[in-house]
Amino acid sequence: MRGALSVGAACLVWSINVLAASIDCERCEEWNREQAPFRIFGDTYYVGVHGLSSVLITSAEGHVLIDGALPQSAALIAQHMKQLGFDIHDVKVILNSHVHYDHAGGLADLQKMSGAKVIASDIAARVLRTGKVEANDPQFEIIKSYPAVSNVEGLGTRTSVNVGKLQLQVIHTPGHTPGGTSWSWKSCEADRCLNVVYGDSLNAVSDDSFKYGGDKRYPNARADMESSIAALAAAPCDILIAPHPELNGLWSIIDERGQGDRAKLIDSDSCKGYAAAGKGRLDKRLKDESAHR
Ligand SMILES: [Zn+2]
Repeated sequence: MRGALSVGAACLVWSINVLAASIDCERCEEWNREQAPFRIFGDTYYVGVHGLSSVLITSAEGHVLIDGALPQSAALIAQHMKQLGFDIHDVKVILNSHVHYDHAGGLADLQKMSGAKVIASDIAARVLRTGKVEANDPQFEIIKSYPAVSNVEGLGTRTSVNVGKLQLQVIHTPGHTPGGTSWSWKSCEADRCLNVVYGDSLNAVSDDSFKYGGDKRYPNARADMESSIAALAAAPCDILIAPHPELNGLWSIIDERGQGDRAKLIDSDSCKGYAAAGKGRLDKRLKDESAHR
């Protein structure tokens, strides 16, 4: 019955389903704007919406998808895979940067559509299973909940996730959230192989009550953020994709039709620059906190 518009009752079911799977926020509509999918490099593709990234890494033995944007983005992400000629059922593993609704909101639907296993850091896995962040999240008081995700497995002590020949390295990047994770892998085009990094948010932002300089809700927030900044600065990195793609200038290179000079996406200083920007924001944040103490 879902999707049927001709009968009154069916129509009601359809709209309830659509509403249940949609989040309203100040920037949601702008974030969810259509973006044509495109090849980033080799077997790595951008399949997200314009304001929120989602990346597909493909192989003959199955694909990996990173991030699901908003609940209302899931259908667009699925459509983008199809436009590129990929079958969503071939997505074997879904990964996540961090558990906020703008990157994890679409995961429940994408998991259902694909049947994939969702793998996340142990802290993140617990949140994904409920769709609700815990009090140790710096944005606990303001972050919206989203549909709970099924078939979630914690990473444990694994340092990589493998699907066929694909191997994605885990880079734990807590700080923006306690369970934040970045991912890196190699993609090859002709005989050139590059390191691609999906770099989690390094943004020290919070609700009104949280202090990055020291807070019992998440005492390690500052130290975590500092080590995450160092980890991304040190990562082998030729191409960086950020969960908010405008943060590393993606749209100054690629347009809304997915066209542009892809060679310009290659920048071995991009992770260092991203880390330095995160450090600048953390330093400013800590200064502001001590000024208001
Ligand atoms: Zn976030």
